[in-house]
Amino acid sequence: MKRRDFVRTAGIGALAAGATLTGCNKAEQTSSGPATAVSQAEPIQWKMVTTWPKNFPGLGTGAETLARLINEMSGGRLKVKVYGAKELVPAFEVFDVVSEGTAQMGHGAAYYWKGKNEAFQFFSAVPFGLTANEMNAWLFHGGGMDLWRETYQPFGVIPAAAGNTGVQMAGWFNKEINTLEDLRGLKMRIPGLGGEVLRRAGGTPVNLPGGELFTSLQSGVIDATEWVGPYNDLAFGLYKAAKYYYYPGWHEPGTTLEAIINQTAFEALPADLQQIVLSACRIANDEILVEYVARNNNALVTLVNEHEVDVRRLPDEVLNRLRELSDEVVAEIADKNPEARKIYDSFSTFREQVMAWTDISERAYLNSRGS
Ligand code: CA
Repeated sequence: MKRRDFVRTAGIGALAAGATLTGCNKAEQTSSGPATAVSQAEPIQWKMVTTWPKNFPGLGTGAETLARLINEMSGGRLKVKVYGAKELVPAFEVFDVVSEGTAQMGHGAAYYWKGKNEAFQFFSAVPFGLTANEMNAWLFHGGGMDLWRETYQPFGVIPAAAGNTGVQMAGWFNKEINTLEDLRGLKMRIPGLGGEVLRRAGGTPVNLPGGELFTSLQSGVIDATEWVGPYNDLAFGLYKAAKYYYYPGWHEPGTTLEAIINQTAFEALPADLQQIVLSACRIANDEILVEYVARNNNALVTLVNEHEVDVRRLPDEVLNRLRELSDEVVAEIADKNPEARKIYDSFSTFREQVMAWTDISERAYLNSRGS
């Protein structure tokens, strides 16, 4: 990318992120042409560890997109190399490795780290919570991002929203789900708060990294699993191990994927590279979501037409009870610590307010569009 293009791209992103353009302005003032002096310096090398299988569609490739953006926007001054789950560390060690600084960046989802603080989960997905649009609105214009930074600060980690899956699917089952009773005794892979809701409904939630789902389901280690949506679930071949594919993804209505950055490594960067990293995350946040929207549909057609998957809607009776249980589970997190209370209050207030607008905008429009 030419120097001028890079400055323009970084500027737009940085403005969007609410940041200053100090670094870029300095670069403009000291050089009217290509910044050869800067680009000839030894590039800074970063490692990005991820919770996804290497190059897994949407997720792993999303992390690669983020790394590529940083490499290109920095004119090669900051090079980020992406590692799939288990290449450097197992999926669930990503946060610790970034916190310690062994890797400078990570890509995953906040609910994987709920063992550190249950309040982390608000920054990925809340059952019956916010859609992708609403989640981004809360993060960037409703105070969510400030709370997220505050929550990760004690770990020396800077978070950034860097992708969203949109509404997920409820998951893959080998039996029909007609009443809540059908969830009783069910051993299901379902992470985060959704898992706790399943426990209250009588099931046994299991948290497994994506790469272990197919084998676990096929061998009967688990009875059911959710993963993401048609695009990702087709890629894992989950239709070969389960008959019924239920919707909607009540437990993950718009899951935010995160980039995490080691604070010391970030602060060691010159100001313009800091802005480039944050701007690249902002672009990836949008890019990954629109890829999901575009590809889920094609994948659903393939699942139904080629693989004869039985797609079903969860009955209202089941969804209504899950919603009641979810409200309990989410509200209880607020009692764990003052920090969680603050996040819960912000999230819940935003949700309540935005629902009124969504009702007369998205929902009203979608109802009027018909099916
Ligand atoms: Ca999921």
